[in-house]
Amino acid sequence: MTSDSKILLSESEMPRNWYNLVPDLPSPPPPVLHPGTLQPVGPDDLAPLFPMALIEQEVTTERYVPIPEEVLDVYRLWRPSPLYRAHRLEKALGTPAKIYYKYEGVSPAGSHKPNTAVPQAFYNAAAGIRRLTTETGAGQWGTALAFAGAQYGLDVEIWQVRASYDQKPYRKIMIETFGGTIHPSPSNLTDAGRKILAEHPDSPGSLGIAISEAVEVAAQHADTNYALGSVLNHVLLHQTIIGEEALLQLAKVGATPDVIVGCTGGGSNFGGLAFPFLREKLAGTMNPTIRAVEPASCPSLTKGVYAYDFGDTAGMTPLMKMHTLGHDFIPDPIHAGGLRYHGMSPLISHVYELGLMEAVAKTQKECFEAGVTFARTEGIIPAPEPTHALAACIEEALRCKETGEEKVILTALCGHGHLDLPAYGRFLAGDMEDHALSEEAVATAIAGLPRV
Ligand SMILES: *Cc1c(COP(=O)(O)O)cnc(C)c1O
Repeated sequence: MTSDSKILLSESEMPRNWYNLVPDLPSPPPPVLHPGTLQPVGPDDLAPLFPMALIEQEVTTERYVPIPEEVLDVYRLWRPSPLYRAHRLEKALGTPAKIYYKYEGVSPAGSHKPNTAVPQAFYNAAAGIRRLTTETGAGQWGTALAFAGAQYGLDVEIWQVRASYDQKPYRKIMIETFGGTIHPSPSNLTDAGRKILAEHPDSPGSLGIAISEAVEVAAQHADTNYALGSVLNHVLLHQTIIGEEALLQLAKVGATPDVIVGCTGGGSNFGGLAFPFLREKLAGTMNPTIRAVEPASCPSLTKGVYAYDFGDTAGMTPLMKMHTLGHDFIPDPIHAGGLRYHGMSPLISHVYELGLMEAVAKTQKECFEAGVTFARTEGIIPAPEPTHALAACIEEALRCKETGEEKVILTALCGHGHLDLPAYGRFLAGDMEDHALSEEAVATAIAGLPRV
């Protein structure tokens, strides 16, 4: 008899706390610095952009942060999310490995992003804020924040990276259906956007540029705050609901992961899945290998430097110590728009420096190949981002086939690809390019790092 395909939790079993990894680490991550004074930023420096509740979560040393009842209420629309055992993929690969995937595509946006969009909108509304600005790449984050804004009566204004805005028109319609406003970035609406357009009228945009535009508008209006969909500590904190649920689900079937893989853009779905398991690893109750997978065209962990850098292109944000390719690096327009970010979450970067996780880079075609194999076996068409994790899952499962090891592999299938079908069309037509960043390009990119 085979075991169940879906491992489900009831709504009453949903975790009621987010998990903060920081107090369990052997050393805390380096502080975020003010770009003018180069001193650690204080709450007042961040107050023009974020409500105090989120600033407190950004720096908290508490191990657990309670999830507000008003947030749990919205989470119940799709959470707890299912954990699947990939029986059909295992069979197709002929592997003795057991593959589990936590599916976040069941959310309103079709990805893990609402896990943090909902609490961010909640805390901003509670602080009397009327409007949120943000950036979006592929459009997942913009969709999630537009949905979350609708839950608490907030206006949401979004700058979408031009390349994705043109490639993915249905995201715009989805965002507008949820009540959000969307502009292509770079735009003529901000100083940051106008400056880029003056030099590069055909700029495909980047997440760094779109962040500059959204931050600029939020900083100029008292009733407007900014929301970020990845990278920051409070975002990773909110995403730990993924890993906390997965721990309970695996316990139900008596499984312990040997390998955890996830894709990393800014690191939030990866951290959200992995950190609760890292807590167990640090406590000695399990010992999984934790592996991040990034695109070879934007390899911040595997090829970037660990240094203080800006989060945006214009250099308006505080300086964060992270693995970075330089804040003015513009990655090739690969289809995994959510993975096109020059830096990595400071917390993930710190964990990587501590040697608690590893990282690999994959090129686009191998990832789409994995996405198609997954779709044909498990029946879900993955977003281009998690195909990176799936490619690494398949690689590990095939290694197990050679060695005969029955490893338990866990991944986050962090979104579905229903609005990314043009990318699959290109792949199926044999019309897709592989992009890998050369050593020379890396050297040029990081030459512009601020000297701290
Ligand atoms: C945004 C996004 C990503 C990249 O962001 P992380 O913070 O690294 O998770 C990956 N996958 C999907 C589906 C996304 O929407």
